[in-house]
Amino acid sequence: MAITTNHIAIFPSPGAGHLIPLVEFARKLLHRHHVSATIIIPTAGPLSPAEDTILSTLPPAINHLLLPAVNFDDLPPDAMVETRVFLTASRSVPSFRNAVKSLLDSGKKISAVVVDLLGTDAFEAAFEFKIPPYIFVPSTATALSLFLHLPELDETVSCEYREVSEKLTIPGCMPIHGKDLLDAVQDRNNDAYKFLLYHVKRYRMCEGIILNSFLELENGPINFLLKQESGNHPTVFPIGPLIRVGSESAKNSECLRWLDDQPNTSVLYVSFGSGGSLSHDQMIELALGLEMSNQRFLWVVRCPNDTASNATYFSILNSDDPLAFLPEGFLNRTQGRGLVVPHWAPQVPILAHGSVCAFLTHCGWNSTLEAVVCGVPLIAWPLYAEQKMNALMLVEELKVAIRAQVGENGLVGRVEIANIIKCLMEGDEGKEISTRMRGLKDAAADVVSENGSSTKLLAQLVEKWKKTTSLQCN
Ligand code: UDP
Repeated sequence: MAITTNHIAIFPSPGAGHLIPLVEFARKLLHRHHVSATIIIPTAGPLSPAEDTILSTLPPAINHLLLPAVNFDDLPPDAMVETRVFLTASRSVPSFRNAVKSLLDSGKKISAVVVDLLGTDAFEAAFEFKIPPYIFVPSTATALSLFLHLPELDETVSCEYREVSEKLTIPGCMPIHGKDLLDAVQDRNNDAYKFLLYHVKRYRMCEGIILNSFLELENGPINFLLKQESGNHPTVFPIGPLIRVGSESAKNSECLRWLDDQPNTSVLYVSFGSGGSLSHDQMIELALGLEMSNQRFLWVVRCPNDTASNATYFSILNSDDPLAFLPEGFLNRTQGRGLVVPHWAPQVPILAHGSVCAFLTHCGWNSTLEAVVCGVPLIAWPLYAEQKMNALMLVEELKVAIRAQVGENGLVGRVEIANIIKCLMEGDEGKEISTRMRGLKDAAADVVSENGSSTKLLAQLVEKWKKTTSLQCN
């Protein structure tokens, strides 16, 4: 029996940075291959307005449903965000299983369960219903190579990774100091590390790993992952870059109207992703650095947080006005050449706007891919998760970013900020960086073109699913 349409179930981890690429994955599957999807979302409370907006723009063939919120009453107040993310997914598995069963009972043939990289507990539901499970990695091939290698590192290194004096070797990747690895591996006694290790050990149980990256961006690790798959790990499908398509409503936003009035390639865009915030002292240095640079800027401002740089991960909005934390007189002094936007801005249309010429970013992977697709050079200001690894790749390997240096007081000072902004926006180094970023932009456009590598790999993945569904039907 010939099957022309497939349906898949998607299980994202909490956070806009996880939801956005999975939604775009579903959208691309629908438009290119008529594969429909149900996105089954674990929650720990109400979704953020940004997540609501993302889901409100889904086409009818992509359904979504919210699972009941999990309870965190048993967690210590200082539990890492990573721990909350892991537990939201794992505590939602029974309701995920029921949701999949309802889809099957309603007559849907599900050809794959696609789970985010931290949700491997959902494999059990896939196995129960004989649906092949896949992992979606919304991060780098470097991070994936580290994850696949982590069980071996865990056995061979006895101290904390940051205490190892020489750089660590991750297959296919540039050697890296333990202190630059992602936050979740910085304290091996922390639950976050134990959960991560548990999940990555389960990666080999899936049928394939879908990666939001592409060869020209991460040559070493992707070549390694593609060549080494015989028995070592499931097939890897690098199908990126998948980035959020701007919504119509974003086009009318104040930011874009303001950008329309600015000269071509004149504005620095400043944003720390969906979850990032600065300490109050650091926020003041950044404001004064932007002012000293004399450049135009568009800054998405969050309320400061002095204890955690990922403070807004589960909730971007709080009752305070972030503008109230800016230095006295800053808004008046920068009026006309700077726009400060509280909480959230339509990032992809901003990066694609002709007035934007540089991006000061926390190096989250979605933000990085969006900058690559739009060809915008970067100032790297990593805050949490795997962002230090991303910053190293962008600065040292790809050479498409300048890194903000932290001073002895633990802050990036205003003079340093003004200098790197001028260096990127006015200097010769900035021009070279921009040229390299334009090269990556062309490569990104190539891989998703009709005959591009990402397009072909996505087609291979869908072919695999079609065979599964045919077998289920026969
Ligand atoms: N984003 C946005 N507006 C904002 C902040 C973030 O549209 O004001 C989007 C951004 O375009 C990206 C995502 O949120 O798609 C953030 O993902 P990323 O991986 O960069 O960082 P995370 O939020 O996961 O740390």
